[in-house]
Order: sequence, then structure tokens, then C-alpha cells
Amino acid sequence: MSDVTARRLGEFGLIRRIQQQVEQAPHLVCGIGDDCAVQMQDSSLELLTSTDLLIEGIHFNRRWTTMRQLGGKAAAVNLSDIAAMGGTPQSLFLAIGSPQQVSDAELEELAQGFLQVAKENGATLAGGDTCGSPGPLFIAVTVQGVVARGQAICRHGARAGDSIYASGHLGDSALALQMLLRGEKPPAELAERHHNPHPRIRLGQQLGREALVSAMLDVSDGLIGDLSHILEASQVSAELELERLPLSTRFREQLVGTPQLIELALSGGEDYELLFTAADQHLEQRQDLSPAVTKIGRISQGSGIRVLQADGSNYPYGRGGFDHFS
Ligand code: ADP
Ligand code: MG
Repeated sequence: MSDVTARRLGEFGLIRRIQQQVEQAPHLVCGIGDDCAVQMQDSSLELLTSTDLLIEGIHFNRRWTTMRQLGGKAAAVNLSDIAAMGGTPQSLFLAIGSPQQVSDAELEELAQGFLQVAKENGATLAGGDTCGSPGPLFIAVTVQGVVARGQAICRHGARAGDSIYASGHLGDSALALQMLLRGEKPPAELAERHHNPHPRIRLGQQLGREALVSAMLDVSDGLIGDLSHILEASQVSAELELERLPLSTRFREQLVGTPQLIELALSGGEDYELLFTAADQHLEQRQDLSPAVTKIGRISQGSGIRVLQADGSNYPYGRGGFDHFS
């Protein structure tokens, strides 16, 4: 159907519509709406499951991404959703829909990249599906993991008074992509962050095990967009401090003379860092977390996100997050 009115809901509106038609199931601790579904397994463990699609022309471009990088990234972005729950990854399933122009050797390279990242993160390829595609290259991955019963960190636990933290640096991947789209060569460190994201499995596990945080997700669609998922799930509001955003040296170099690049740290996406809320006393003294975490704002009552500049005035940030249907 090509009727333009047929696509007015947006990605998240459509997901909500689907969700409304789903009946509660006793085996699910958490269904649609978090980074992973959480399913009761036995008296001590819960099963985590998540699935993500990568489509050529939307999520990747073979002009500047090798098949090996692509395979690795397909595994990493899925493993990142296990990290976002504080879980331990176990099994991965890899489905490939490939156009004829992609050779067997290229698909093998893709599988090698996938397997390497799976292994680095303690996960095993346990199945998948392979078929031809009349259009672009499709990669659909499902990941399963486990978490101790009651320890999964969901999006709905943020409370007024909590602080907001992010791991690592924000904006590098989006800046690399912007340069690639303009035909420029990004600095190696930025390109690496775009092509080879590291799921923050160990950090997520530590935060969950020690019960340090109240809500968490991984930043795939941009800080503003993903923070708004925590806020909606928890029914709270947020203030972010622009000066506190964790930016890499390379990002800061590019920011000099082009201050509007800060939008990429706010809304760019594909950071695959952990974004979480916590009471200050849990995190303030923690120098041992890796990667380091940075306090970037606080949670209040109400709704919405304010971004404050150093002088206390509001920063008029742009669009919030990535909607695949917009
Ligand atoms: P993430 O960015 O962590 O991968 P998404 O924003 O893609 O999460 O999805 C948000 C939630 O909506 C997830 O719980 C996901 O499983 C669910 N979801 C997305 N698309 C669908 C769909 N077509 N049917 C059912 N659930 C969906
Ligand atoms: Mg996620």
C-alpha cells in the first residue's frame, strides 16, 4: 500500500499499537518495551532475548564497511541489548538474506566477523537462517542470555532524585558516519567506534550484580531518544548538563569551530554505551568501573528533557533520536 497516511504512527507508535494487542503471559517478567524480553527460566535464572535487524542502505553501506566489520557489528549491537539488562550472553542466531551480487567468500567473511565478536563476548552461534534477497542485504540477529532472578535492569525504575550516567564517550560513531556520508575520511579512532562497537557486557553485569542502578538501556538511537524511553517507562523527567557530556579527544577536536556538532553527541546514535540512572551514593566513589561512567544529569518529577548550558539557560536541541519510519 503506498498511501502516505498508512505510515503516520512512526516506529514507536506502531510498536505501541502492536503491544496493545498482546495479552499478558505468566511466563514473561517483561515483554515488549525493554532492551530484552525477560522470561522466567528456573528458580535462580531468567532468560533474556532480543532481536535486531540490519538492512543495507539503512543501517550500513558496503562502500565503507567491510563484510567482516559488518558481521562483527551485527553481533555487537545485539549483545549490547544483553549488556543493557545486566545479563550474560549465551546464544546467537544469525539470519542472512543476501542479494546475488554478494559472493560466498564475502558471506564467509561476514560470518567470521560475527563469530569473532561472539567469542570475545562469551556467546556461541546456535542457529539462524539463510536465503536470497531480491533487494538489499538483510541481517537479522537474535541473542539470548541469562541474568540472576530479579536482577535484570529494566527501563522503568528511574526515580526523581536519581542522577543520570553514561558510560564511555558519546557522539564518536555518529561523527564518523557524518564524515563518511560527506566523502571524508574520519580519524581512525572515530571510524573504529563506528565500525566496531564494544557491547558493555562486563559493566552491565557489575551494575546489575551490585544493584547500583535503578534503570538502564543501551544508547543505540541517540542519547535524547533513548533517555526518553527511560523517562516514559518510569514516568519522570530529566535535566541534562551539556558541559558534562562525555566526549572523546577526537570529538572535541572536531567540535572546535563547529559547535553544532554537539547535536551528534545528543541525538546521533550507534554509541552502544550504557545509559542509566542511579542514586548518587551508589556511584560517586566508583573509580573502578570500566569504561568509566560520567554523571550527565538528574531525574525529576514530570515529563520531558531539558538540556542546560553552562550558564543555566536551555539548549534548544534538535530532533530526539532515530525513528526508522520517519
Ligand atoms: P532496542 O533499541 O533496545 O533494540 P527498540 O527500540 O528497537 O529496542 O524496540 C523497543 C521495544 O519494542 C523492544 O522491547 C522490542 O522488542 C519491541 N519491538 C520492536 N519492534 C517490534 C515488533 N515488530 N513487534 C513486537 N515488539 C517489537
Ligand atoms: Mg537497546
